[in-house]
Amino acid sequence: MTNVHERVVELAKRRGIFWPSYEIYGGVAGLYDLGPIGLRIKNKIVRLWRKFFIEDNDDMVVEIETPLVTPSRVLEASGHVENFTDPIVECKKCGRVFRADHLVEEALKINAEGLKPEDLTRLIREHDLKCPVDGGELGEVRLFNLLFRTQIGPYSSSVGYLRPETAQGMFTSFRRVYETFRQRLPLGIAQVGRVGRNEISPRQGLIRMREFSIMEVEFFIDPESGESPPFERVKGERLKVLIASEKEKGGSPSEFDVEELVTERIVVNPWMAYWMAVASRFVRALGIKDFYFEEKLPHERAHYSRQTFDQIALVKGEKVEISGHAYRGDYDLNRHSSFSGEDLSVFRKYEQPKVVKRKSVVVNKEALNKEGKEFVKEFMSRLAKMSPEEVEEALRRGETVNGRPIANYVTIAEREEKVHGEKFIPHVVEPSFGVERSLYLAILNAYTERKDRTLLLLPKEIAPYQVAVFPLLEREPLISKAKAIYERLRTEFETIYDESGSIGRRYARVDEIGVPYSVTVDPQSLEDNTVTIRDRDTWNQVRVKEEDLITALRKLLYDNARLESVGIPVSGTHE
Ligand code: AMP
Repeated sequence: MTNVHERVVELAKRRGIFWPSYEIYGGVAGLYDLGPIGLRIKNKIVRLWRKFFIEDNDDMVVEIETPLVTPSRVLEASGHVENFTDPIVECKKCGRVFRADHLVEEALKINAEGLKPEDLTRLIREHDLKCPVDGGELGEVRLFNLLFRTQIGPYSSSVGYLRPETAQGMFTSFRRVYETFRQRLPLGIAQVGRVGRNEISPRQGLIRMREFSIMEVEFFIDPESGESPPFERVKGERLKVLIASEKEKGGSPSEFDVEELVTERIVVNPWMAYWMAVASRFVRALGIKDFYFEEKLPHERAHYSRQTFDQIALVKGEKVEISGHAYRGDYDLNRHSSFSGEDLSVFRKYEQPKVVKRKSVVVNKEALNKEGKEFVKEFMSRLAKMSPEEVEEALRRGETVNGRPIANYVTIAEREEKVHGEKFIPHVVEPSFGVERSLYLAILNAYTERKDRTLLLLPKEIAPYQVAVFPLLEREPLISKAKAIYERLRTEFETIYDESGSIGRRYARVDEIGVPYSVTVDPQSLEDNTVTIRDRDTWNQVRVKEEDLITALRKLLYDNARLESVGIPVSGTHE
């Protein structure tokens, strides 16, 4: 961890944003508590995600909630029991276990993602890599399954796992939601919920956790519908994309219009481009301006994916995957269909019914029955195994049964039939965000140091409170007046009140948790019923009439008004 991470972690502990869980017992790597401030920010991030992904698309997307505990069969079908693994290697001397691909990456400065265990073992042997802790010899690389295993109920044979993604809940309840959603595609099923991944060595704070929350949409489409996504909703969005062929050459991302990703065939389906554009807007709303989409190479992709882009955020010099965009095709519904024996296909109605010619086999019973029971039995059992086309072919070749030409007993008839549509398994496009990782990156991005002070320059939409109210001094009647204003503001804004310590200390406290505006009641307020509003980002202040305060705050918070436009500037900075 670099210094800035340490300072963010320190701030997070000090201000109740997050800290290691079970701290009094020494903590557990990869498990974190969110504190009162952290949870407020998290809830706002989830609210913002819901706005961009669900509300703004509520003609297509609905939200559900499904359990964390998942029966083994579901994750066998999804492929996770077999494939949700990371490579590990153990030191023969100290017994420590490392993530083999990360160890190789750090030692050799190469990209080792997705390499097979035997290839990693070979690299370790070829380069004589040793245990990074005590220099001991390393064993063979093997795969470790990241699912948390549990037992459902009292029978040990009833194996369950904590879900590693919310997606499987959407697949297993697809048919029910599809039926309640007027049986129409496209259909997005969204979910926000906890997941468990038994990560091998989670060391990067909220970036790699063992239990976290995820925000996902499984977007079900008809791959042949030809219907265009509503690109007008993401108009003007330009995306930086590092495509696989460029990445292999060591190239850098290029910029594309969202629809260009479709016409240039960079995405395998237009909906990938649409959701990547929505994801861009969401990440920008978190305050993160610098990011790009990186296409995964085939061996880097998850087992279910036909194409994947990682959205990589660049924050304080660090590159971190903030979301994943996978084209899951019909993999999941197909697998669940065959494992459960349930039909998960939907009906595609043709615009015009198609007329198809159907062949059928007509048996000349009279002729056949003359040949005796044994022959009829033999003949009919052979016939039962053949399609009309195969029978037709056999007739053409003049085949016989027990030396007698089959043409004596069957003919082929052809008739026309009207077909109104066909069944198919929907395909899936999946945008997936980690909540705590988004929270951490938003905080890291907002983290600013100025004059020995720390500020969180969070976008107003995700600040834990909108307004703080203070009496300038800890005494009456300033306190009563400030409290009265606080009571009034809190009916409309998320407001915090603080009267303890010097005003400078109180400003510093709210700056540290990112409250965008502070309202202060000072001695002049008692004379002329005015108060000051202070801006977190500039430390400037304006004076407004108490009766105009709510309107002024509305303009600042919702209309992006400049501070100077809502009141009379007060000279000096207000640290
Ligand atoms: P994935 O299904 O692996 O593409 O993960 C989806 C998203 O979840 C990622 O883009 C991250 O934002 C987040 N995520 C994945 N693994 C972790 C983890 N161990 N800790 C925190 N967030 C994670």
